[in-house]
Formats: sequence, structure tokens, C-alpha cells
Amino acid sequence: MRAITRFFGGPPRRVSSHIKRLRAEGEAAFRRSLHLAPPFLLDDYTPRYMGLSSTEAAKKRSKAYAHLRNCNLCPRLCGVNRYETTGMCLIGDKVKVNVIAPHFGEEPCVQGHNGSGSVFFSMCNLRCVFCQNHDISHQRNGQDLTPEELGDWQVFYFVLFIKLQEVGKVHNINLITPEHVVPQVALSILHARDNGLTLPIIYNTSAYDSLASLELLDGLVDIYLPDFKLWSPASSKRLLKADDYAATARESIKAMHAQVGDLCFTPDGIAKKGLLVRHLVMPGFEAEGAEIMKFLATEVSKDCFVNIMEQYHPDAYVGRPKARAKQSAADKSDDATERRYAEINRAVTKEEISSVRKAAEEAGLWRFCDPPGHNGFNL
Ligand code: SF4
Repeated sequence: MRAITRFFGGPPRRVSSHIKRLRAEGEAAFRRSLHLAPPFLLDDYTPRYMGLSSTEAAKKRSKAYAHLRNCNLCPRLCGVNRYETTGMCLIGDKVKVNVIAPHFGEEPCVQGHNGSGSVFFSMCNLRCVFCQNHDISHQRNGQDLTPEELGDWQVFYFVLFIKLQEVGKVHNINLITPEHVVPQVALSILHARDNGLTLPIIYNTSAYDSLASLELLDGLVDIYLPDFKLWSPASSKRLLKADDYAATARESIKAMHAQVGDLCFTPDGIAKKGLLVRHLVMPGFEAEGAEIMKFLATEVSKDCFVNIMEQYHPDAYVGRPKARAKQSAADKSDDATERRYAEINRAVTKEEISSVRKAAEEAGLWRFCDPPGHNGFNL
């Protein structure tokens, strides 16, 4: 701005509107060309849970226990007492944790140099037929932990929240597939806070969350990292086993953005607060991807930080042979149609990925998680 003012030798009256316009254009161009510039740059950051008063924390604890006794916390609305039984997610009052460790498979701004302190929860409230994590999300494998154990020191050979911070020097605590264990997660964050945790919390979700669960998490989560998988009820029903997925994800993502805003970084390039939306491009579903991009730009924010992911591969139930009993006599050849979910039994093409990216740009989105164009660290 100083350069513009200097060039014109100070703003005389008759050109002041011209200068104002140039100034506005200059500011917009500058702002839209850097992730690490105001308003997305934070001098420093203190996690939101550090600001909760003891009364607010007590209210959250009491709400979390109430939800566990009558669980309608996710859109499945099971209404069960999780101290006595389980609902659709098959998880009771204790969480089942598959892995807790520093993780280097996340976005560069999340994993940084030391990794993201990831907690992979077993099971899920969706049943995505192509789940790229199905060995964890579809199977009850792992260690049962109370919320206090989850937020506490080491239990057996697992490294827990505080250990991740002190030993792993990770940049954040990354709760992966937590939609069905929100009360336990809320309790564990409060317990860890009382024991010295100071890292930002990432809620890494399918976006199949209820507004009640997001309300419980308000003030506890710093970064919401939702997927937005599919747009239409028909494809959500077939591929995710939840026809209300897209409607739920739309409301959830808007509520997440209302809590934490757009993604912000500290000067080291590490994300500290805000919304980061992932979309895994699916083969043949680029039109749904385009709808998702339009929604993000028009109903969430044009400054929404988006990761358009290209690593889809057939997994879980996709491509498995159909049960012979279900095949018609005419459907017994060994071709692709004999495979389950044959329409997504292939990798995604470059054209499909480009088409979603083009739709995102045309909608006005501009903050993408692109691979680095250099050999250094990607900010
Ligand atoms: S969290 Fe589990 S028990 Fe609760 S409503 Fe969802 S699926 Fe049902």
C-alpha cells in the first residue's frame, strides 16, 4: 500500500477514488495470494479449552454424562444407555482406541515437522462401502479406555494425550473418526487440560455429526477437519448407508465454521484454528464433488481451506465378488458386473480430479491444500 501511495506522490483529491480502488484491488490481490497473511495469520495461539471457566467445564461434563445415559448424540438417534448396552456404533461408555501415535499422513499444515498426535478410534457411525480405513472403522479392534485414561498418562504400551505432547512433541491432538464417542472425547479433553495439555485439538470427522454433539464440542475443539463425501441422498444411501448424510454434513459444516471460522496459521505454517474440509474425489461422482464445492463457496466461506484428495482406490466391500446365491442365471460371467459396487471399482481419473478442482475455482474457492512445488516444507 505504501508503494501505491508513493507512486502517486500522495493522494490528491481528484484521484483519491482511483487510489482507493487501486488500494482495495491491491489488498485483495495480496490477501488472496498468501495463506500466511492477515487475516489468516495468528501471532500466537492458545487452545480454546484453556479459556473455559470451571463452571463451563462442569456443565460440559454433566452434559456428556447425560448423553451417555441416553445417546442420541449422532444422527443415528439410538436412544440407548451406553453404560448398559450399545447402539448402531457398537461402542459403549468406553472408547475403543486402535492406535495412538504421531502421524505423518495428514496435510502438511497439520502434521508439520513432528507429526500430528493422532488417536484412531475403532468403529464409526457410517458404513462407507469403500472405507479407506475399514480395518479400524468397521472392526472392533483396540484397547478399551475410559475418558480419563484416554486423556491421561500411559496405559500399557499406548502413548496418550499428555505423552504425545511431552514425548512426541507433536503439533496437535488429532481425534480421528470420533463422531460416535463425542461425550468421552469431551470428558477426556477436560481431564487432559487439568493435567497440563496445551495443544490444539483437531476433530477429524466424516461430518455425520449432530448439532447437539457439535454444541458439546464448542469451546473444546480448535480445528474441525470434516470430510464432505457425497452430495445426493441416493448415492449416500448406497455407498455410505446413510441417505441423510449430505443434509447432515451441510448443517454440521456450517455449525463448525460458525464456531471456529476459516483456517488460521501461526508464522511457523502450522494450522491452529479453523475449518479444513476434505473431499475425496470418487470415480464417476465428479458432478457431486462440484456441488459440494459450490456449497462450500456459497454457504460456508469463499476462504474455506479445502483439500481435494485424489487417492481413492477400491477398498473394503468394493470389488468383492457378489454372493453367488444372489446372482441371476444371466449374471454368472466373471466380468466387472459380478463385483460389488462395480461403478466405483476403479481409480479416479486425472480428468475427474481436474473437473472438481475447476468447479471449486469457478465457485470462488482459492485456499487449497496443494502439494509443494519445491522440495522444502509446504506451508
Ligand atoms: S453415537 Fe452410537 S449409540 Fe449414540 S446415537 Fe450414534 S450410533 Fe447410536
